[in-house]
Amino acid sequence: MKRIAVLTSGGDAPGMNAAIRAVTRAALAHGWAVFGVRNGYAGLLADALEPLAARDVGGIIQRGGTLLGSARCPEFADSACRARALAHLAARGIEALVVIGGNGSQSGSATLAREGLRVVGVPSTIDNDVHGNDVSIGADTAINVTLEAVDRLRTTASSHHRAFVVETMGRNCGHIALMAGIAGGAEVIAIPEREVEAPEVAERLRAAYRRGKTHALVVVAEGAKHGVHALLTLYGEQRASIGFDLRLTRLGHVVRGGVPSAVDRVLATRLGAAAVDCLAAGGSGVLVGVVRGDIVRTPLAEIAGRMRPADTALLDLARVLAM
Ligand code: ADP
Repeated sequence: MKRIAVLTSGGDAPGMNAAIRAVTRAALAHGWAVFGVRNGYAGLLADALEPLAARDVGGIIQRGGTLLGSARCPEFADSACRARALAHLAARGIEALVVIGGNGSQSGSATLAREGLRVVGVPSTIDNDVHGNDVSIGADTAINVTLEAVDRLRTTASSHHRAFVVETMGRNCGHIALMAGIAGGAEVIAIPEREVEAPEVAERLRAAYRRGKTHALVVVAEGAKHGVHALLTLYGEQRASIGFDLRLTRLGHVVRGGVPSAVDRVLATRLGAAAVDCLAAGGSGVLVGVVRGDIVRTPLAEIAGRMRPADTALLDLARVLAM
């Protein structure tokens, strides 16, 4: 092996830069040349690649986002477009590709592997929903950013006898809301894997008020369909009986923008280097992930189209402890 390429794709996640750095330097240590692809699969289609040297990935380990840029590229689902991308790689003598990204990106890498390219996937998504992997690069930081907001809102909520609804990211997977909700001592957590209807949320808030709580926190994943709007409508009708004054804070893209935590930097470093180890050992068509603390390789074909759901058993624990 002489030349590899690396790209970041899909939603950006804190720690992607640390993964790019690890892939680049681990590959350089093998004596390989490394090319960075601009803007995910879109850069493969446009042949937008640049050589990466050790110094090019210096000073990025602590930066959120991705130096290479990321993009959603719907055209990549088209086989004629992918053939163009494969031809660009072949023309440059690039023999293998490392794809750093979430579920959609790894479906793309599974397709490329099926079409004959040597590919290794590295799971990176704030949602932590990649099958075959316990913890994705970026999830820890996103949870901590959400938790900081929850903690700050709790302070002001206590002073004013308020309840806050905090909406965080997570369209299909509620991992961020669940973890930040538990760590923040939320009274109610609503996630797509197990929704809570608005009347139930209102009842839990009412009960918390009667039990003498000075504040209440509801952490909602954006994908919990019955979540925020229904609750706010209901609150308009039941305001007097609920007791708390209710406010909404939507965190939106703030959740993605954190400085990567130590956990995410170390994870990205381990997984980036593991992707190179895998290629060096002749591996391909796999995702390198962490399962029960160990780095494991799972076939991309097994991962594509599947999702790792949040651990709903923890919701029951959170409910008990919100007494
Ligand atoms: P994430 O990787 O964060 O889940 P997306 O779901 O948006 O983000 O996927 C990122 C990109 O991966 C898509 O824009 C598309 O270019 C590519 N992709 C997703 N699914 C496929 C697929 N089945 N075949 C080829 N490419 C795909």
